[in-house]
Amino acid sequence: MPHIQPLSPHVADLIAAGEVVERPASVAKELLENAIDAGATAVTVELRSGGMTYLRVSDDGCGIAAAELPTAFLRHATSKLRTAEDLAAIGTLGFRGEALAAISSVSRLDVTTREHGAPVGAALHLEGGVPGTVEEVGCPEGTTVVVRDLFFNTPARLKFMKRDSAEAAAIAGLVAHLALSHPDISFKLIKDGEEALHTPGDGALRSAVYAAQGRAFALSLIPVSARDGALAAEGFVTRPLEGRGTRGMQAFFVNGRFIKSQLLTAALEEAYANRSMKGKFPGCVLCVTLPFDMVDVNVHPAKTVVKFVNEKQVFDLVYHGVSDALDREAKPAELARSAASQAAPQAASQAYAPRADFFRSMTAEQFRASQAGAAAKPPVPPAPAAAQKPPAPSPAAAPSFQTRIPAVSLGELGGKARVSDYVRKERGAVPEPPVSAAPAVKAPAEPEQTAMLPETPVPWRIAGEVLDTYIVCEDGECNIWLIDKHAAHERVNFDRFKAQSEPIMSQSLLTPLVAQLPAAEYAATAESFPLLREFGFGCEDFGDGAILIRDIPADVDEGEAVSALEEIAGKLAAGGKADPAAARDSLLATLACKAAIKGGWKSDERELRDLVDKVQSGEIEYCPHGRPVKVRLTQRDLEKMFKRIV
Ligand code: ADP
Ligand code: MG
Repeated sequence: MPHIQPLSPHVADLIAAGEVVERPASVAKELLENAIDAGATAVTVELRSGGMTYLRVSDDGCGIAAAELPTAFLRHATSKLRTAEDLAAIGTLGFRGEALAAISSVSRLDVTTREHGAPVGAALHLEGGVPGTVEEVGCPEGTTVVVRDLFFNTPARLKFMKRDSAEAAAIAGLVAHLALSHPDISFKLIKDGEEALHTPGDGALRSAVYAAQGRAFALSLIPVSARDGALAAEGFVTRPLEGRGTRGMQAFFVNGRFIKSQLLTAALEEAYANRSMKGKFPGCVLCVTLPFDMVDVNVHPAKTVVKFVNEKQVFDLVYHGVSDALDREAKPAELARSAASQAAPQAASQAYAPRADFFRSMTAEQFRASQAGAAAKPPVPPAPAAAQKPPAPSPAAAPSFQTRIPAVSLGELGGKARVSDYVRKERGAVPEPPVSAAPAVKAPAEPEQTAMLPETPVPWRIAGEVLDTYIVCEDGECNIWLIDKHAAHERVNFDRFKAQSEPIMSQSLLTPLVAQLPAAEYAATAESFPLLREFGFGCEDFGDGAILIRDIPADVDEGEAVSALEEIAGKLAAGGKADPAAARDSLLATLACKAAIKGGWKSDERELRDLVDKVQSGEIEYCPHGRPVKVRLTQRDLEKMFKRIV
């Protein structure tokens, strides 16, 4: 065994630095947090080559006294914490006193700073953590830190850096989040000489959202405001129908700190249960504030995880706050509707009239007339008796029902025969061991007819479609099948895509679409253009989280393309699937889903027939997410429901 020795301070610093400074975005985060802690009202971030060669953060905050400047760069030197008790009530973003030490140890750093009211400023240069001497300089009040050549002395770390554009995107995401949590501070981001983001700092959250997340997102929001004692939740959530393909647009802040929290995500999404579209996620900018001693932020070095002392109370506050906001949003429409019906009772009764007609039964004469008409003659004019009565409920009163649920008849049988009769008949012809019981049920066989019948299994009779989602079928054995048309189609698509060895066919769009992605997803997507090509997406990096979509998979509807890409981006960013085949399958599943007919869409008869055939043949059983495509209801089940049997 080699001798055990203490690490040299330099190596120990580098190891510690590695925990705080992983990439340019972590440098930007620490410097920005320092600026906020210093009480700045305006902060500028400037970066070149993704922050690797040059990263500057300037603020107009309190500044650092010249005499204390070198101390700020010592490990565990902080002005924000004095005693262990202070740790239990942290109100600043920084508190570990590690950032400046860590950043300076892996870069060439320059700081210039002037305290408020001080006659002159001070400057200091550090190279790999080794400080020069403090010099007097003229500079504005506040602090500017310039970090150059990040990781110049740790080549191993350099190798792990992503593309510059990915780093720049991560920093842009970070600035956006800070801007949202501090609407009273004006943030400016300058990327390779160009202004990429600029928030007004007017104190209004909505204007920060507008500047940082874009106009479309800002317009999709409704306000949330809830309070429970010392706890408060304020901010905005998306309207239920404005869901996104991923959770990327969910931003939670606790006491002004951007955090990731399963608890808050769950509380938010629970409020949308039964309101939002399936497979979509709500977006939000939600700020939770609570007394500092009711939350622990010192759980993770990156400080993006917090622990609530009373989780249930926080969950309830967010859940009810969001639910109430959504209820309020839904109410005005209802109120308007009921007001309209009171103001114009005539219009309302008119709207309901067809339904009343629909449920009224026909008179015997009318029924006979309609039968006769269907058999031979053109439609019979209404009987004179009916003409004297108020609006005659004619059989034509329900055409919409007829077209919505077409009964697909079996050609060979004519419209009226039940498929079960037919199947029993055919069964009778197949040589079977003699059945002793109930021979009367068995229909007499007709050999000539049987010879002409196809060998393939008898198709299920499609009785219709309900809720524009489920196909109702009947088989020859008194079973009723309900088929989820979306799930079934999804599986058909998935199998087809998977069997295909060439890239998925794409269609070019006349006008490109734009997907606005959260930073991490944007970065992952920008790196995966060749892969996306294989899936039929032709994309371009449009900068600032925007991906331009020029081509989309031929099977995917244009209206679904952005959400398909959002979902794929989410999967790309999450990574996680070590097995490339599994990763590919997961992306194909997204595509299959987006290319599938949706529950709620009108489908034509051929589409339904095709799906039913595939389900009936047993070719497909589960959708790519593992949900069943069909459920069975037996005659016995029905008889039980109707208490015919017990
Ligand atoms: P921490 O933020 O955890 O205290 P840092 O290493 O980030 O530790 O900073 C050390 C100290 O330097 C801070 O406590 C603060 O007093 C001072 N400081 C850092 N950046 C600024 C700034 N932009 N403006 C004023 N003071 C700053
Ligand atoms: Mg700090």
